Amino acid sequence: HAKRNGRNGYQFHTQGMNDHVLETLWVDRDLRRALEENQFVLYYQPKIDLVNGRITGAEALIRWQHPTRGLVMPGQFIRVAEERGLIVALGDWVMREACRQNKAWQEAGMAELPIAINLSAQHFRLSTLLRDVKRTLQDHALGADCLELELTESSIMQDAVATIATMRRLTEVGVVLALDDFGTGYSSLSQLKGLPLANLKLDQSFVRGLPDDHDDLAICTAVIAMGQALGLKVIAEGVETPEQLAALRTLGCDVGQGYLFARPLPAAQFMEFVQRHGGMEVTAFGALGDNA
Ligand code: C2E
Ligand code: MG
Ligand code: MG
Ligand code: MG
Repeated sequence: HAKRNGRNGYQFHTQGMNDHVLETLWVDRDLRRALEENQFVLYYQPKIDLVNGRITGAEALIRWQHPTRGLVMPGQFIRVAEERGLIVALGDWVMREACRQNKAWQEAGMAELPIAINLSAQHFRLSTLLRDVKRTLQDHALGADCLELELTESSIMQDAVATIATMRRLTEVGVVLALDDFGTGYSSLSQLKGLPLANLKLDQSFVRGLPDDHDDLAICTAVIAMGQALGLKVIAEGVETPEQLAALRTLGCDVGQGYLFARPLPAAQFMEFVQRHGGMEVTAFGALGDNA
């Protein structure tokens, strides 16, 4: 801790600010090269059907294997990638890598699963996204049902007209779209109504308080009921405890994702997880919590 008064306390504060600037500086400095040298890797987190306990798919989450800093999480570099105009190249890599891995899993005999990737707002504004998605699926001999795209409310609202047009064309060729972090943005229900979405991802900040926090319970209840009424599949994010799981199942939530089932896993471990848990039934929910 900094000293309460005198020069040391002030210096401590200044040092902290320098550290913050340096933190983004190294990201800035190393990110372009990381793309050129392929320093990224995807981890995969299973999504679990809350009715029958089966694995319904996975979300691909990017990590940066930095040569000296180790595994860097997306929270530390996605925003810089967006600011530096690198996010579309990064998203293209994520799409190709997720498809390559999915094909490799299928060839290794793993059950066929859709893999969801996260794309930034900038990517959805591009009229070329549809063409790139189709080409990537084709290059890997995958059907459109093998890839899902997650985007946030704020992504849509940044350029609603272009984004919604792209979304519509993507759904026409069979790509599933999911609204990520639902409830944390500012879109109104009337804006949501017209969107070509299949899945709604209930943000983990609302799942966290289940079942005791009255506000979180009310929000989860409302979102799940609304999703059902609109014909959307609701996916709860950040399911960490058996109590949260029980509450979500009682509310009729379709799918869950979280540390209770599995953390995001490297590709080989994800396949092991699927092979170990793939055929599990609803009565085995307790066992699903026993992570590797
Ligand atoms: P997201 O898409 O909402 O992903 C869910 C985040 O919650 C992931 O963090 C995941 O590891 C974490 N998570 C999963 N289960 C639990 C749980 O039970 N408890 C808690 N506390 N957290 C859980 P991660 O991997 O650090 O990613 C953070 C965000 O970075 C993602 O949020 C997404 O917005 C962004 N991101 C990740 N990969 C990519 C990518 O390839 N491209 C882009 N553009 N953004 C990405
Ligand atoms: Mg996501
Ligand atoms: Mg999310
Ligand atoms: Mg999130």
